[in-house]
Order: sequence, then structure tokens, then C-alpha cells
Amino acid sequence: MNDCIFCRIAAGEIPARIIAEENAALAFHDLQPQAPIHVLVIPTRHVASAAEADSATLGAVMTLAAKVARDLDLDARGYRLVTNVGPEGGQSVHHLHVHLLGGRQMRWPPG
Ligand code: 5GP
Ligand code: ZN
Repeated sequence: MNDCIFCRIAAGEIPARIIAEENAALAFHDLQPQAPIHVLVIPTRHVASAAEADSATLGAVMTLAAKVARDLDLDARGYRLVTNVGPEGGQSVHHLHVHLLGGRQMRWPPG
């Protein structure tokens, strides 16, 4: 889908600060960070959201998110993984992505 911004990042057509790529999942820094560490992890193949992803895709994305968190020394402090789905979930980019947020105390409920 060449009108999808995250497909274009995965294809290298739009620059991004890429951190890691593994098992058809890609991690890169969010353009507008909401925490000292704010990384997005996506499948390189287009999937609209977690609602449409198969277990292998979800597994690859979550596994890479946890690996990046470990590599960024967040394991002891903790961090948040979240994926927004649909309008009320607050999803603005319709290509599955997990937000990895860390480096500050997270609040609950998230709002
Ligand atoms: P959502 O609101 O869909 O859960 O999250 C979309 C995220 O993508 C937002 O945090 C937004 O800052 C980020 N984002 C949108 N466009 C770009 C882009 O072109 N590059 C990067 N690195 N992040 C983006
Ligand atoms: Zn896409």
C-alpha cells in the first residue's frame, strides 16, 4: 500500500530513525515522542491493526518490542507497550504498530 506511511517507511521510501528489524518486524523512533523513549514497532507487511493481525504477526511485533526495550536498558525500570485500534482507540495510522513508551513513570488510566 504505497499510500500508507508505515509501508513507505518499511520500504525505505520515507526516512525514519530505525533501531532494529527482525522476523518481518521493524522498530523506529516515533516522530513526536510522548516519553523520553517512544519507539514504534510495526510488521513490515501491511496489516491495518491488531484486530486484523494473525498470531505470528502479533508475536513478531511484541517480541521485537520487548527486545528493543531490553536493548535500551528499560527492563528494570519498566515500560509500556500499547497498540491503539480504531477511532475510539485513538488509532491515527492504519498500519498495525505497537508503541514502546519508557523513561518516565506511566499513568493509569491512560485517558
Ligand atoms: P496512533 O495514533 O495511530 O496510535 O500512532 C501513530 C504514531 O505514529 C504517532 O505517535 C505519530 O507521532 C507517529 N507518526 C506519524 N507519522 C509518522 C512518521 O512519518 N514517522 C514516524 N517516525 N512516526 C510517525
Ligand atoms: Zn501499511
